[in-house]
Amino acid sequence: MAGKIVVTPSRQLLPKIAYCAERQKLLDAFCDATEQSTMLQDQQVAAVISADGDFTGFDLLIRLAHEKKSHAKDAYIYHVERHGC
Ligand SMILES: [Zn+2]
Repeated sequence: MAGKIVVTPSRQLLPKIAYCAERQKLLDAFCDATEQSTMLQDQQVAAVISADGDFTGFDLLIRLAHEKKSHAKDAYIYHVERHGC
């Protein structure tokens, strides 16, 4: 057995590229967009509960945040599929 390389199933799942700065940048952008979207939804719910102000004013901002999140997700997936990282 000396010198024989044993490949475990978990090792087979490792990506070819251990770290990719672009992948991390795209993932961070997706996380930021998700956080922004969630924050706006929370603010809208708070406005509804408190009956203070115009809670419908959040609709456009939430829609824009969803679009940004969707684009960030697509960019991340596209990069990972193309780059293999
Ligand atoms: Zn990459």
